[in-house]
Amino acid sequence: MPTAVRRTWRRLVHSYHRLCARDDAVTHGFTVPTGVWSCDHCQEPHLELSSLLHHLRTEHP
Ligand SMILES: [Zn+2]
Repeated sequence: MPTAVRRTWRRLVHSYHRLCARDDAVTHGFTVPTGVWSCDHCQEPHLELSSLLHHLRTEHP
């Protein structure tokens, strides 16, 4: 099925570009957040899992 192959190929190219962009950002000194965590109790957003864990320990014991 040539169409399926083409679709898979396009997906590979896409993920390759995304990886490159992340590498580029690192070499230029940017930090790319891998995700945002929000507190279950007060919906406060945290860019790092460690800061969310610290928040949970200190604000919601
Ligand atoms: Zn909270």
